[in-house]
Amino acid sequence: MSYLKFNADYLFTGHEMLDNNFVLITDETGVVVNIISLSEAGENVQTHKGILSPAFINCHCHLELSHLKNLIPEKTDLVDFVFKVVTQRHFDEEIIFEAIAKAEDEMIKNGIIAVGDICNNTQTFLQKQKQRIAYYNFIETSGWLPAVAKTRFEKSKSFFDQFCQLPSANNQLSMAPHASYSVSDELWQLIQPYFFQKTTTIHNQETSFEDEFFLTGKGDFLRMYSLMNIDNSFFKPTGKSSLQSYLHKLDDAKNVLFVHNTFIKKEDIQFVKNEWKNNPSPFFCICANANLYIENSLPPIELLIDQDLNIVLGTDSLASNHSLNILDEIKTIIKHFPKISHTQLLQWATINGAKALQMDNILGSFATGKKPGIILIENNDSENLTQQSSVKRIL
Ligand SMILES: [Zn+2]
Repeated sequence: MSYLKFNADYLFTGHEMLDNNFVLITDETGVVVNIISLSEAGENVQTHKGILSPAFINCHCHLELSHLKNLIPEKTDLVDFVFKVVTQRHFDEEIIFEAIAKAEDEMIKNGIIAVGDICNNTQTFLQKQKQRIAYYNFIETSGWLPAVAKTRFEKSKSFFDQFCQLPSANNQLSMAPHASYSVSDELWQLIQPYFFQKTTTIHNQETSFEDEFFLTGKGDFLRMYSLMNIDNSFFKPTGKSSLQSYLHKLDDAKNVLFVHNTFIKKEDIQFVKNEWKNNPSPFFCICANANLYIENSLPPIELLIDQDLNIVLGTDSLASNHSLNILDEIKTIIKHFPKISHTQLLQWATINGAKALQMDNILGSFATGKKPGIILIENNDSENLTQQSSVKRIL
């Protein structure tokens, strides 16, 4: 068998940043054989300028919303955003399918090898059958009125059954609640068996009025319920933050991906740590560009780092982002939090994401036997990631 040998200014392994004295060896198909020193590597070493890295993991996307690119105004707020998304229904399926295919192409070009994808319908099914990217499909349910729980669940279950037919090698599947303010207790109970021992996900504390709603029963969500003609009179505030109100409903999952966390507080993080000492494992997904797009705000990333949390990255959908590009997410974080190390950011984008999606047996690092995909981050003659950095797929 012949081997492929890769050398660059830097070799990021998924865990640590090695310098140009190391060579990544893979077989012809990209399965990692070893990392050895340049002096031992012999002939036929390909040398690249930039950082070689395992391919990226995008932990939060809604591929099915790709046709909404550039249609929803920026920097309004979550209520207006959600209302616009749920009322944009006038598209032909052909346009939707085309946008889905184009968005997947974009992710592949941008070095993304696996995606945690939210599904509210089966419009991405045909694309996913092609198995060009590994997906963890989260069949998302929502329904705030207890009276609609059964019909909403049955609809989601029918989508779940269809996604079950995808080849399991590249596709995993569970159900997921949309958010604390959109899923009734009755609906939670129906979906819980469908994330038992799996990874599930929830949009968490994306806006300041999410906590306000659970603490006091007031705030901007009342405007959303009235816009959507939902009678909220049954709801009794819990007197706790949103996250603390719903956390135990996720106890049966193996991993939980909390997405956005824009308004998470230190007490919430302590609560998760105290309540979930052994399992489930919590992962905190940052979608920086979507947060800026929707609400012009960013999560407390330094707090998440200080608290030693498992952080991962997501793009969210093209309804709330200009690109499906993990490197663009990294650049935005660097711009606003310049002290965060580039090694740490790349860990979030690779090994942490692979663990969250339970794909770290194959993806996320250059460990022997894995086939994680190889990307090159080109930095325009600078050693470090900059706003000009670009990414290309090497293998
Ligand atoms: Zn989302």
